[in-house]
Amino acid sequence: ELPSGTNEHTKRTTMKKAIFPGSFDPFTLGHYDIVNRGLALFDEIIIGIGRNSTKKDTFPIREREEAIRKIFKDEPRIRVEIYDCLTVDFAKQHDAKFILRGIRCVEDFEYERNMAEANRQLGDLETIILYTHPEYAHISSTLVRDLYAYGKDVTAFVPNELR
Ligand code: ADP
Repeated sequence: ELPSGTNEHTKRTTMKKAIFPGSFDPFTLGHYDIVNRGLALFDEIIIGIGRNSTKKDTFPIREREEAIRKIFKDEPRIRVEIYDCLTVDFAKQHDAKFILRGIRCVEDFEYERNMAEANRQLGDLETIILYTHPEYAHISSTLVRDLYAYGKDVTAFVPNELR
């Protein structure tokens, strides 16, 4: 039996696997930065593109999947998958105990805290939050979508493979 105060997360595991869930519509330099920094913390990161019934897609989900795979084609520790269930169930399928998320500003905080609490309660998942690099703090998928819709240059906001 485990001493009090220890749980699944305080036990030493050999393989630290995290899910990086999001819509990634599209994947931006902000997302890219979080994933790359996450590689220093986890052995494997599974980028989960959530199929969202309430949000309207701008870029088709298969295109997003393909683009993100291309970005990380030389990184064997990254996997990219589409999922259409709760993040806790997706994590369970992959035997992942961690969720990786990014925070840009105070507005992100409340939302992330509620999600983290729900995922801890529902799936015993621990959420690891990284603060965004100041250089990318203003970048959002929404911004990129707006620029794209008006035919503007998005190269400063997305990884090379999406340019
Ligand atoms: P969701 O719809 O789940 O919020 P997103 O694709 O918008 O999915 O974002 C996925 C994660 O990436 C979230 O944790 C979000 O806060 C984070 N994120 C988004 N943009 C940035 C950025 N510019 N810098 C750091 N983290 C970011």
